[in-house]
Amino acid sequence: MQRVQPQDFERVLSSMCTKPHPAARDAAERFLATNPGDPGTYETIAELERKAVEMLGTITGLPSAEGYVTSGGTEANIQAVRIARNRAATDQPNVVAPESAHFSFNKAADLLNVELRTAPTDADHRADMAAVKELVDDDTVAVVGVAGSTEYGRVDPIPAMADLAADHDAICHVDAAWGGFVLPFTDHRWHFGHADVDTLTIDPHKMGQAAVPAGGLVTHSTELLDELAVDTPYLESKSQATLTGTRSGAGVASAVAAMEELWPVGYREQYHESMENAEWLAEELAARGHDVVAPDLPIVAADMTSPVTEDLRQRGWRISKTGAGEMRIVCMPHVTKSMLRSFVADLDWY
Ligand SMILES: *Cc1c(COP(=O)(O)O)cnc(C)c1O
Repeated sequence: MQRVQPQDFERVLSSMCTKPHPAARDAAERFLATNPGDPGTYETIAELERKAVEMLGTITGLPSAEGYVTSGGTEANIQAVRIARNRAATDQPNVVAPESAHFSFNKAADLLNVELRTAPTDADHRADMAAVKELVDDDTVAVVGVAGSTEYGRVDPIPAMADLAADHDAICHVDAAWGGFVLPFTDHRWHFGHADVDTLTIDPHKMGQAAVPAGGLVTHSTELLDELAVDTPYLESKSQATLTGTRSGAGVASAVAAMEELWPVGYREQYHESMENAEWLAEELAARGHDVVAPDLPIVAADMTSPVTEDLRQRGWRISKTGAGEMRIVCMPHVTKSMLRSFVADLDWY
């Protein structure tokens, strides 16, 4: 085969993934051929996975964390809904989430035969608690809060959602797939240490700067994780809680390498840099008369006419839109100030 090179990140403003940290890339290459799905056989990577979960617990306020490294936020969210459904007694389960919840919850609902009820968000794009309360009933198995929403980077009122879930004997699941590695440096209340959270999604392959595939599902109890376990008669280990069977050791090893390298100092620096870039861009866009959704975490959304967005795409910029049609820019670690300067310069050309 011709030696095809992947595209670079030079003009990518739409992705929630980024260039892996060099240590993460190196670890991923070393562990390419390992399969943590068979921990009895691949003991070294199984040990690294325990380490990864422990570190994810540290980041999310959980001293003795249970969980595993998933293929991404989608799998973690599906598995959280599966835990909620399996532990509940009802045969008409529903999950209540804000309309800002990631589309992986639609997949989960479809796969698991669970009704997904979505509540409107408030003027600042966060779950409207009155609306959430309205939707919760005796058949609710999980209340989902988003900590760092995909479109606007908003954080739902997690403590109130956790209380509501507990009142109905439902689990509280937090989706911090993207936000998990920036939220520790903010005042938000979003994790196990702040509220009665039961399960949480946090992806090393997004802001965590690990190689794809590295997502994370974290929970406080083996009992919850055991809701997922199936017997595995012909493996060296006896049961498996993951959704996929054979999995990539590369993701696991690179997640550990990235976290060892960057937690907490490197991630903190990255957060401040990304946030400063997001604020700078928001100001530049506002100064040009665009309606900007002020960034809370490093995502900027702004009302731009579609032709401009299309023209920019023609010039090689990878930008995406929110459901409401705003231009959306994710200030990931590879997005530098100079990149944003040349983006704004291109914008001025129109
Ligand atoms: C990216 C994202 C997901 C999905 O994660 P994948 O790794 O793409 O499967 C879920 N929830 C949120 C909030 C996300 O940003």
